[in-house]
Amino acid sequence: MFGVPDPKKLWRRYVVALGLIFLFLMGSHLSAVLTISGTHSTASDIDNSGRQRMLSQRILYFATEHAKAQDNAFAEDLTAAIDSFETAHIGLLIASNRSDDLKEIYFSDDESIAVNTLSINYIKDARSVLERSPQAADALARMQEVGPYHLLQRLNTAVQEFENYAQKKVDELSFLQSLSIASAVIILFLEALFIFWPAHKITISTLLKLEKKQSELEKAHTDAVDRNKELEETRSHLHHESRHDALTGLANRRYLDTELSARAEELSSSGGKLALLHIDLDRFKQINDSLGHAAGDHVLEHVASVLRKVVSGDDFVARVGGDEFVIACSGEASTEKLSGISRELIYELSKPIKFGDSLCHFGASIGIGIAQAEGLQIDPDKLMVNADIALYRAKEQGRGCHVFFTPDMQQQVDEGKKITDNIREALNNGDFIPYYQPQFDTETMELAGAEVLVRWQSEEGLLEPEKFLPVAEVIGAIPDIDRVMLEQAANDFGQWRDQGLTVPLISVNVSAKRLHHPDFITSLRYCTIPPENLVLELVESIFFEQQDEQFFKILDEVKRLGIATEIDDFGTGHSSIVSLSKISPNGLKIDQQIIEPIADDASARELLKAILDIANSMGITAVAEGVETEAQVRVLKDYGCQRLQGFWLGKPMPADEFFAFVTSYSGSKAA
Ligand code: C2E
Ligand code: MG
Ligand code: MG
Repeated sequence: MFGVPDPKKLWRRYVVALGLIFLFLMGSHLSAVLTISGTHSTASDIDNSGRQRMLSQRILYFATEHAKAQDNAFAEDLTAAIDSFETAHIGLLIASNRSDDLKEIYFSDDESIAVNTLSINYIKDARSVLERSPQAADALARMQEVGPYHLLQRLNTAVQEFENYAQKKVDELSFLQSLSIASAVIILFLEALFIFWPAHKITISTLLKLEKKQSELEKAHTDAVDRNKELEETRSHLHHESRHDALTGLANRRYLDTELSARAEELSSSGGKLALLHIDLDRFKQINDSLGHAAGDHVLEHVASVLRKVVSGDDFVARVGGDEFVIACSGEASTEKLSGISRELIYELSKPIKFGDSLCHFGASIGIGIAQAEGLQIDPDKLMVNADIALYRAKEQGRGCHVFFTPDMQQQVDEGKKITDNIREALNNGDFIPYYQPQFDTETMELAGAEVLVRWQSEEGLLEPEKFLPVAEVIGAIPDIDRVMLEQAANDFGQWRDQGLTVPLISVNVSAKRLHHPDFITSLRYCTIPPENLVLELVESIFFEQQDEQFFKILDEVKRLGIATEIDDFGTGHSSIVSLSKISPNGLKIDQQIIEPIADDASARELLKAILDIANSMGITAVAEGVETEAQVRVLKDYGCQRLQGFWLGKPMPADEFFAFVTSYSGSKAA
């Protein structure tokens, strides 16, 4: 009941309160009107009864004087007094109804004191005197006896009683007043209790709720502001991260692109040069492979700090790839300044750095592109390509140097691009064909096998591998070339066999990319050359690649298929005794560079002997490549090299020529 009412239902209480106040007002108004009107008539009763006393004495006086007088000089006054007395008496008789005491005074059983009886008799006697009736003298005598005493006394009593009655009414009125004040107080109290207090409680609870809501809102606002701040921080952090390399903190490729576009735009109006130094680390891969990625990261961080130290104020440094960095210089960008920066960088980056107990040896090659904003806006992409071409050239020149881009480099690149397009087309058109170079058994000089060597029948004539293999390597076309060579060799092998010629061994060159190609093993499994007639020559690129678990798994698979492997170009480049023992091939091909001097140079023969000893000790076949003279053949025969390949014995030739060559060779040998 005293709880907080439903604020929406509070109006009902207000209606009840208003109704109560209305009823109370109406009630107290009505009772006041009634009481006042009662009091009003009571006042006139007092007045009348007072006048009645005075009239009773006036009647006595006029009656006495009338009786004494011979004429009727007082008759009129007496009559008027009697009439007034009678009229008032009738009113007072009605008024005597107001209380029992008044009734007793007017209508007492004892007629000697009943004012009504006394008054009626008094008037009767007065009329008797007025009319000078025979009994007038008695009547006057009775009047003189009753008038000043009994009647006057009783009339006094009546006045007194009317006054008492009036006093009673006044008391009642003041009681009513008190009652209405008390009622008003009670109603106010009840209203306070049932309406204003709940309303107050509602107001308070609403206020509290509002305060709570306000503090919640304030908190929400503060939270929102905090969250906004956090978001803003995260956004700027993300913005920074999206434009910087996480490891070195240098700008990343994307940021570099934006920066170059901005500088190109600026230079287009102000003029000046924009130069890019494209820096590539030498031997970085080896550090990663041999010492792990932590060492690689350490080197990259070191390089970043060197770059920061070497560049000047306005230069912009970015890391654009694993071990590639770019410095953008705008403004003067003279070749002297750029050469100076490059030399300093190459010098600083050639110093080995420590990582744990190991020393990391690396270096840097730098390609530089410069563009002058002359009328036309500099094209940052083109400039980047130029710096990249120059870098490629720096690497070709033996690394650890810097090279400026020149327009003729572009020409070479364009040619390279043309070759690239042509290689793709040639692969589609079947323009890569196999040439076969015979191999002979040193003891019997019988045909021992043939190496499959790719040739390109291009519009410019027949191209040898050195013309297109480097480009094919770059564009990743070598695996396709290897695949095509194996397919065509298998085809030729089948045709020769159909014609009665079985070539004992068909050696195909296999690049690292081909070896790792997903369909390599499948292609060997379905190759129509029997495994015992097939040899895979592992070319130099294989030894550049990491010889990981996968590599040895593939080799195992090849061995399981019964296909022989030979290490190509042994004694030079990257094929080593270590890899020989790890790979355990079926044979090795001694490089032409070792064969070439053996006829004339004793120490060359020593080297040859050492290699042959290794092969013998491992129980594998040795093949000599690039045999160009009979003297070389003799030495190789003496030293026990099992197979020979070279121009002196037979140059690489197309399939039909090879068939003819072998048939006529066998014939001549037989003859
Ligand atoms: P390679 O596998 O060592 O091939 C032997 C190279 O020596 C051939 O050059 C051959 O023509 C040349 N040669 C043979 N005898 C003599 C000689 O007496 N004197 C001289 N001066 N050279 C001789 P070619 O055909 O130009 O091949 C060069 C290299 O290209 C090959 O060296 C091989 O590494 C690669 N290659 C050729 N064909 C393929 C192929 O189909 N796939 C792959 N991956 N590489 C191939
Ligand atoms: Mg070869
Ligand atoms: Mg070779």
